[in-house]
Amino acid sequence: MTETPDRRTAALIRKVYRLLLSEYGRQGWWPVTRTAGGEPEYLGGPRDRRERFEVAVGAVLTQNTSWKNAARAVSSLSAAGMIDPAKLASSSSDEVARLVRSSGYYNQKARRLRILARYFLETGDGPPERRSLLELEGIGPETADSIMLYAWSSPFFVVDSYTKRLFSRLGVIRGNESYDCIRGLFEGSLGKSPEIYNEYHALVVEQCKRRCMRVPACDGCPISALCAYEDPREEGKARSPARHKGL
Ligand code: SF4
Repeated sequence: MTETPDRRTAALIRKVYRLLLSEYGRQGWWPVTRTAGGEPEYLGGPRDRRERFEVAVGAVLTQNTSWKNAARAVSSLSAAGMIDPAKLASSSSDEVARLVRSSGYYNQKARRLRILARYFLETGDGPPERRSLLELEGIGPETADSIMLYAWSSPFFVVDSYTKRLFSRLGVIRGNESYDCIRGLFEGSLGKSPEIYNEYHALVVEQCKRRCMRVPACDGCPISALCAYEDPREEGKARSPARHKGL
């Protein structure tokens, strides 16, 4: 079930976007390899089916690991000519696992990548249906929406643990809402704009890596004026943030 944001929440979500964009600038998601074995780099997003497939592969590889580790695995697959659904699907699991070792959970990810490759072979050139992606092993809503948004520019906002942490601290959500409920808050606030969804998710990741970490570094935070977070380690302070402020 999705949730429609009230006007105040929608205004806050839009304001956070403007402030984060002003602070960090454009993030350049999603990078892809331009040459076999090269490092993924951002040059305007995926342009063709091969590059869209690479984005989908990267979305699986970055599960439970950093992008740095996933990118090394993407480069290895690229060097082996496996950013190709037919070649990947017909390779052995052991061979794929060896190539994606740097991303962790490599046996599991090798199996998932071969399933994904078969799916790409079956579905042809068009964008996939989100619902059918979700039926594949190991593709949850976050990975499915990453593929829909970053490979096909389809308007699905990506919600991850960083989104939940940041917007819980801002008092927008409690943090225990369903994935689709949180996604609905963002999509309802921002309109159907894949360009903004693309940038916003990347900015949330940046904010949570630089400032809003598990133990946040609030001094100098670009959105501190909007934030209701109270450090639970300080005696006498409430654990839960009040409703959002600053608007
Ligand atoms: S003020 Fe602190 S808790 Fe609030 S968003 Fe910034 S870093 Fe996170």
